Order: sequence, then structure tokens, then C-alpha cells
Amino acid sequence: MAILEKLTGDYMKRILFFLFFLVFTQSWITAQTPPSCGADLYREWYAQQYPELNEQAKEMQEAMAEWALHYTESIHPRTLITIPVVVHVVYQNGVQNISQEQIESQLDVLNADYRATNSNLNIVPPFFQPLIADVEIEFCLAARDPEGKYTTGITRHFTNKDNIGLDTDVHYTATGGADTWDPLHYLNIWVADMGDNVVGRATFPGEAPPAEDGVVIDPRYFGTTGLAAGSEPYHLGRTTVHEIGHYFNLLHPWGSGLPSCDGDDEVEDTPLTSNNYLQECPSTLQASCGSLDMYTNYMYYTNDPCLAQFTPGQKVRILATLAGPRAALTNSTGCQPSGTDPGNYPVFKLLIQPNPSPGQLVFECKGKEGKSGLLQIWDPIGRLLYETAISTNQPYTWEAPATWADGVYFVQAEVEEEVVVRRFVLRK
Ligand SMILES: [Zn+2]
Repeated sequence: MAILEKLTGDYMKRILFFLFFLVFTQSWITAQTPPSCGADLYREWYAQQYPELNEQAKEMQEAMAEWALHYTESIHPRTLITIPVVVHVVYQNGVQNISQEQIESQLDVLNADYRATNSNLNIVPPFFQPLIADVEIEFCLAARDPEGKYTTGITRHFTNKDNIGLDTDVHYTATGGADTWDPLHYLNIWVADMGDNVVGRATFPGEAPPAEDGVVIDPRYFGTTGLAAGSEPYHLGRTTVHEIGHYFNLLHPWGSGLPSCDGDDEVEDTPLTSNNYLQECPSTLQASCGSLDMYTNYMYYTNDPCLAQFTPGQKVRILATLAGPRAALTNSTGCQPSGTDPGNYPVFKLLIQPNPSPGQLVFECKGKEGKSGLLQIWDPIGRLLYETAISTNQPYTWEAPATWADGVYFVQAEVEEEVVVRRFVLRK
């Protein structure tokens, strides 16, 4: 596994170097290209690396499109969804080890922009004002971790690797990054150096291994204060708004790759466009492909101060993701405090031994005596594989079926409405 990961990392560096070379050399002839979103490049890379996941993800895409097609507000009454976020700060020096204040400033931006309470709604041209959507999603810094313990929702890890945010190493503590928290129930954000060409990247639903699922943002473009304050024109936290859009399955308005009228984002109310408005901020109406361009949409590359809206069509696409592959986020307990102080632990803990395991595992719910509960094992794309009743303080020995593939699995234990989720690795 370690060797595989190492090879994967090295291979990735070569592929990325090649891709960046292709994309950036042309414009180097005349001028340095401003840094931008890396989501499309990584999407391409993951599709090549994990063809099986990609096949499953395509099926998910079809199901989500079908759901969106039949969506109406009356059939699907909304309640506000709050997404628990864990921020993994992976730093090489004190400057990159950004402050809690800077992290909280990013949460403020997310909560304004996904609720359409941002202060710059007035910059949206009148023609597009009716297409400003309140996505009705809020975000919290996690208040309890996957084991049910108190947390600030922030982890901090020193690394000695340059530009680790470009590499999958950032997702593993063993390779100098930070391990993912249960990605079914938490939005994982890694804040890590990504060099000079990329401001952020994200994984689309189901397309990356679960341990790599989430969003990566360079610390210079995360939030609005501290290190981000000097990062004009990407100093207002909208890189993260944009990347989380990808995480929720939104595409660039021009589709994937380079802007062209032939591309589309599969959303009706975002007009076709052949311009990404990279580091621009138009002061007059702009048009391409026979219609006005909605350059104020968060999924463009426009400067942060000039981004201001999602559309109702994008909202439905996000909701389809939250009704499909990312549904577990909507019933996560991650935002609920586990207690009033850091010393207050939940009523039980879930122990897993050994981990990684060649096949046989022992699960034990340590906690109050004489309680019964439910133990479930899930695969990375959220399928329930196994379920059994358990009793607290009694080791439960279990053998993984021979047909199960090596990889990461999730165990959820529930005792008296306390839920604990942990992961284990099968390595036969
Ligand atoms: Zn993007």
C-alpha cells in the first residue's frame, strides 16, 4: 500500500507537470498566466487513475441528472442544511500555519455567499438579478470529530514537502499531509501550498478515493484576513466558494477545459460562454456565444470582488448531489457540540483492531455497561454492506468476506442516539 501510494504520488507529479506544461506554456510566450482553479485537471487525472470509480461516478451523474429533472420546490420542501467542515492546515512555516481568525473569515464568506447575503449583490447586472439564488446551505466548523470528541474543526500538521497541496500526499498523515475525516459526514478542506499556478482544487462526487475526497486551497487564498489580505484579486475567500461548488458537482459555465461555445455546464440558467474572465472585472455588460455572459457567477474565474451569485439552476444541481452521493452530509452530527468543554467525551468509543487488517477485525464499543446498539459497515461510496446488533464493552469479532476489495471502509456504531464513525483499512 505504501509503495503503491508512493508510486501514485510520483506518477501524479509527472502527469501534473505535463498538464501544467501544456496549459501554461502557450501563454508564457506573452505573459505569465495568473493562477487559477485546478479542478478540471485533477478530474481528468482521477478519471485516468481510477477508471472503476469513474464508471460508478458516471452512474451517479445520471441519477443526479434524473433527480434534478423532476425537482420541484413543492415536492422537495427545504430545510436549511448545515455542512460540517474540518480544515486541515498543512504548513511548512509559520506564515502558512494560518490563524483561527483567518479560517473563521472563510466560514463567514461561505455562509454569506451560499445564502445570498453577500454585500456585493448590487454588482449583478439587472438582467441577471432574478437569477440570484439562496442555496440554503450553511457551513460550521465541526464541533465533534468522527469519534464523537470535542474539536475546534481545525487540525494542524507540519510538513517538509514543497507544494504538497498539488499532490495526493496532502491527504495522508503518513506522507506528510493530514488524514481525511469520514468524508461521508464531513467536508474536508486542506489548506496547503499549491505553488504559483493553482489557487485551489476539488473532487467531484464519487470520482476520487474517499480518503482524497474534498477541497484543497492554497493558504494565500483562504479567507479574507491574515495571509489572504494581501492576495488581491483573490483576497475575499471566493476561491473556496468556487471549489466547494465543484465539490457539489457544479461545472465551470463553459463546461470542462478551455472556454468554448461548444461546452456547457448542464445548467439551463447559466448562459453559454467562450470567456472565463480570468483576473478580469468587467465594468460593462459582456456577451459571447450569442448571449450576455454571467461573469458575476461564482463558477467563473473573475476577480473575487466581482463574483456575487449562484443561480436557481445551480442550486438544483447542488441539491441533487445532497440527495445523492453526498446525502450523508445532511444527517451528520458534526456540527453538534459533544460537550461543553474539551474534556467532555461521549458516552462511548469505538475501538477497531487491528487497523489496517488482513481480514479479521475486532470491534468494541467502550462505554456505559449493558447497552445495546447497531454496528454498520459502509463502503466508500455510501453503500451499506453489513449490519449487526452489538452490546457495549463486548468485543465483536468479524471476518471481512473474501470478495471485499482492499481499501478503506467505514464503521458506524450507534448507541442510545450517540453515533461514532471510524474507518478501517482492509489490506489482504
Ligand atoms: Zn473551477
